[in-house]
Amino acid sequence: MASSFVDKARISVHAGKGGDGAVAFHREKYVAAGGPDGGDGGRGGNVVFRVDENMSTLMDFRYKRKYVAGNGANGAGKRCYGRDGETLYIKVPRGTIVRDTESGAIMHDMSDGEDWIAARGGRGGWGNMHFATPTRQVPRFAKPGLPGESHDITLELKLLADVGLVGFPNVGKSTLLSVVSKAHPKIANYHFTTLFPNLGVVYVDEGVSFVMADIPGIIEGASEGAGLGHDFLRHIDRCRLLVHLVDVSGSEGRDPVEDFEAINAELREYSPALSERPQIVVGNKCDLLGEDRENIEKLKAHVEKQGYSFFELSAAAHTGTRELVQECARRLKELPPILRYEADYVPPEPKVDTSGELTIEHFDDMWLVEGPWLQRLVATVNFSDYESRMYFDRVLREAGVFKRMEEMGVRDGDTVSMYDLMFEYKD
Ligand code: GDP
Ligand code: MG
Repeated sequence: MASSFVDKARISVHAGKGGDGAVAFHREKYVAAGGPDGGDGGRGGNVVFRVDENMSTLMDFRYKRKYVAGNGANGAGKRCYGRDGETLYIKVPRGTIVRDTESGAIMHDMSDGEDWIAARGGRGGWGNMHFATPTRQVPRFAKPGLPGESHDITLELKLLADVGLVGFPNVGKSTLLSVVSKAHPKIANYHFTTLFPNLGVVYVDEGVSFVMADIPGIIEGASEGAGLGHDFLRHIDRCRLLVHLVDVSGSEGRDPVEDFEAINAELREYSPALSERPQIVVGNKCDLLGEDRENIEKLKAHVEKQGYSFFELSAAAHTGTRELVQECARRLKELPPILRYEADYVPPEPKVDTSGELTIEHFDDMWLVEGPWLQRLVATVNFSDYESRMYFDRVLREAGVFKRMEEMGVRDGDTVSMYDLMFEYKD
């Protein structure tokens, strides 16, 4: 039962390969030999993350781990371009953090609801129609497409809510959420009721609303060894305000002051920042109090001494709920907005083993350089970035590519073609 909630998942994403360019020649009746008309390969499909508002867990990712976008189609004769590979959309709950598995660095925070490209498809190869010049009319070569990007990714769900409910099991968190919002969390008089976080929108006044989250309890796992515990706290990491519910009825023979301190100790242990998050303390189940107000007065004095504001509530009888949500709205107005995580992932320099095979051919002044490692390198280098171009140049030089070309007689001004990269050779 406990494992049915999934808020962390490891997957791999693979963008599509670019299609190959075509070698073809124009043919027409009565025309002896036409020019080259081989079209380009299509682009490989991207892998794109998209927010799905109906999702609240990463459960789907337990069954499927590998995500592959479509390959670009090959080019064809008559200047036909290959079709682009199909984009693969991966749906995630809002608030999913995407991390690079190896470094743990944040690649993106899926909080703003916008699509995000996790892996780019490879560029398509050029067809031979690009390689005709007045002096080279029969180019019998085209370019293969480039591989797409791949990443090992860890998804982590940190829900977006303004207010997080904390407290022991059975204190009435789910009841409160169901009373103040339209959410329908499970309510039952036993522990482990809430295994999925529930979000509800609380409408306070016209134009004033906030999101409240009922999160599986802290103690609801930690102290019972169910392996939940602290994992769930990640969902309140970003709450701007905590509402700490305490059962003051004594119905389960508990001591409210001890309960209050126990929860705060758990919060501190998980994250000091979270334990310092603004907190409103609420004594719930006041309808069961009767004449005996000793417990509630003790708690009130205890928390007010520590600077917290205190509210009396009966979630079940709906008394005090209005005052509580109004106080939440008032406090939220003064608090900073929900935390968005900045990406801190720096893509590593592509590591290439240049010891593999490399073929160099030339057709007059057109030099074709090809090989698996060069293909990978061209696919990963960002040619609009100066540093990256310098890096590319250095790798080629160190691998002895230019030296080999010189031995083969390359001249200043010749054209060098490396996949979809074409440049003029300079001594
Ligand atoms: P949670 O585990 O904190 O989410 O607690 P629940 O909302 O599931 O409530 C646990 C039990 O306490 C249920 O049987 C509720 O009906 C009951 N309960 C919740 N709030 C009140 C209240 O204000 N007064 C009384 N008498 N019972 C309550
Ligand atoms: Mg509950």
